[in-house]
Amino acid sequence: MSEAIQEASPLFPTYARYPIALVKGEGSWLWDDQGNKYLDFMCGIAVTNLGHAPVVIKEALKKQLDELWHVSNLYHIPNQEAAARLLTENSCADRVFFSNSGAEANEAAIKLARRYQQKIADNGRYEIITFNKSFHGRTLATLTATGQDKVKEGFLPLPEGFRHVELHDVQALEAAITDKTAAIMLELVLAEGGVHPVDPGFVQHIVTLCKQHGLLLIIDEIQTGMGRTGKLFAYEHYGIEPDIFTLAKGLGSGFPVGAMLAKEYLAEAFSAGSHGSTFGGTPIATAVVKATVEAIAGGKLFDRAAEAGDYLRAQLQDKIGANPFVTDIRGKGLIVGIECTEPVGQLVIEAQKRGLLVVTAGPNVIRLLPNLLVSHEEIDQAVAIISAMLAELPAAV
Ligand SMILES: *Cc1c(COP(=O)(O)O)cnc(C)c1O
Repeated sequence: MSEAIQEASPLFPTYARYPIALVKGEGSWLWDDQGNKYLDFMCGIAVTNLGHAPVVIKEALKKQLDELWHVSNLYHIPNQEAAARLLTENSCADRVFFSNSGAEANEAAIKLARRYQQKIADNGRYEIITFNKSFHGRTLATLTATGQDKVKEGFLPLPEGFRHVELHDVQALEAAITDKTAAIMLELVLAEGGVHPVDPGFVQHIVTLCKQHGLLLIIDEIQTGMGRTGKLFAYEHYGIEPDIFTLAKGLGSGFPVGAMLAKEYLAEAFSAGSHGSTFGGTPIATAVVKATVEAIAGGKLFDRAAEAGDYLRAQLQDKIGANPFVTDIRGKGLIVGIECTEPVGQLVIEAQKRGLLVVTAGPNVIRLLPNLLVSHEEIDQAVAIISAMLAELPAAV
């Protein structure tokens, strides 16, 4: 057993950690402090989209470490301007606000939507409609936005101004819109909630309702963005342009950074002093963002994700599709869910023992999130492990 894993830890027990201490990573592979090697099909939950320790990002980071770490957003930060320019050139957005995490990016989105409705449209609207099974973060506002009760327990009172409706229920959505509604916010693949891609027809309906009622459309691309689904951003699959969208996870290739992006007409709603962050968009963070966007957008790595995702799902269908334990294999690009008839927690542990790291998405879904450069050979290895493990059921469960 690793010395890094001790009974009495001074850390808060907020995570039910697996008894593994990972100490080194390269590409699709990780090593623990006992020298065991793992094929990483979770990527720190969709973060290391370029694999571990990618050379181009490491070089950009090292160069910036030699030059300047932090100044303050009271000054111009050239890397921040350049990273924002790259993001806007490669998306439907015109403006960017950098944060340190996904939850903070969503907080910024919620604040911008409210402030636009209240200060610019001058209609006093504040409510945000979100969907059951969604996940939007752990701050008080974003856990309230999240459509899962488990993240809210013991944190009352929650902030006002959020309504939840069932995904794909047009009537419920229409009924939830009032003269207080400011925005509709959603993930286009419900990720933590079980890898559920949203139906294009439903998304079109949301867009129409937003236009009709003067609501802002906020897309949470924190997990789906940065090439993960086979496009740079998942909204591109739907032929839509959100008013606001948010990024984090893959945006920094493992360096903590988030961003809230929006259309030009929303810029004036965030005037000087209306929002801010000490660390948001530091020279280091935005050097990494710049290198990451250049690598993924410039190298069209989303096309690789689309191709590798098709291959992964086809292989899974072929090798485990007929297993009675498996009820569905779904996803978009390289976010893939294997839905099972029973809870999969023990299977995740069994996969670890066999050298494969995966993550759950809700109780019954195994979620696969390999990096965008994953090879067919690595996919074959992962599928072989999963298929062997499932073939030995019920012994594995
Ligand atoms: C991870 C995630 C968040 C929260 O991001 P943090 O960086 O953990 O705050 C929000 N929305 C979605 C869709 C996510 O996957």
